[in-house]
Amino acid sequence: MSIADNIKSLKNETESIHVTLIAVSKTKSNDDILQAYHAGQRLFGENMVQELVEKHESLPKDIEWHLIGHLQTNKVKYIAQFISMVQSVDSLKLLQEIDKHAGKNNRVIDCLLQVYIADEETKYGLGFDELIELLRSEEFTNLQHIRIRGLMGIATNTENEKQLKDEFYELRTFFEGVKQSFFRKESSFDTLSMGMSSDYKIAIENGSNMVRLGSTIFGQRVIKHWKDN
Ligand SMILES: *Cc1c(COP(=O)(O)O)cnc(C)c1O
Repeated sequence: MSIADNIKSLKNETESIHVTLIAVSKTKSNDDILQAYHAGQRLFGENMVQELVEKHESLPKDIEWHLIGHLQTNKVKYIAQFISMVQSVDSLKLLQEIDKHAGKNNRVIDCLLQVYIADEETKYGLGFDELIELLRSEEFTNLQHIRIRGLMGIATNTENEKQLKDEFYELRTFFEGVKQSFFRKESSFDTLSMGMSSDYKIAIENGSNMVRLGSTIFGQRVIKHWKDN
C-alpha cells in the first residue's frame, strides 16, 4: 500500500475511536512526508532537533510537529518558536528550559511527561515517584509557559503481549491517578500517548488515546540519513 493509503486506513481506524494519530517521520524524506500530508495528515513526530528544524523550514506551515525523542536542554531554543508538543519531557530542568524559551516567544508549549515503563535501561523517562515529586515541587508550580497535556510512555521492545499489556495498563492507571491528584480541574490534561507500530493495538485496548506510528505508515526505516534521500 502507498503512504497515502496507509494514512487513510489508519485515520479511519483511529478517528472513530478518538485516538490521535501521530505520523512518525524521522529519517523519512520531505517527499514521503508530503504524501502523508496530501492524504490529510497534519500531525508529525520527529526525534532529532536538527532534522525537525530543517523539515519545519521546508514543509507546509500548517503541519503540527511533535518532538518525541530525548531533548537536550541546550537545544530547546531551536524549536521553541514552532513546536506543537514536546512529548518527551523527562526532567524538571528540561521543563524549566522549555518554559523559559516559550516565554521568550510569547507562547505556551504543550508537553507530555515521559514515564519510564519499559524493562530496558536504555529508555528515557521519569519514574513514577520522580514524576510525582516533580508535580509537587514549587519550581513546577511557578512555570507559566508550559501546559502539561498528559503522559507518554514507550513499552519494552518485545513480542510478549502479556508484558506489553501490563506495561500499558500500569501507565494508564498511573495516568488516571495523576489526573485525579493534580489535574482534576484541568480538562486539558487529556492525552495518554502510548503505542508504536508493533504494539499500538494493545496500547489502544489499554487506554491509549494517541499513537505514534512510523514504519506502519512509511515502511521500514533504513539506516541512511534522511538528507541522503
Ligand atoms: C521511532 C519512534 C516511534 C515510531 O516507531 P515505529 O515502530 O516505526 O512505529 C514511536 N515513538 C517513538 C518515541 C519513536 O522514537
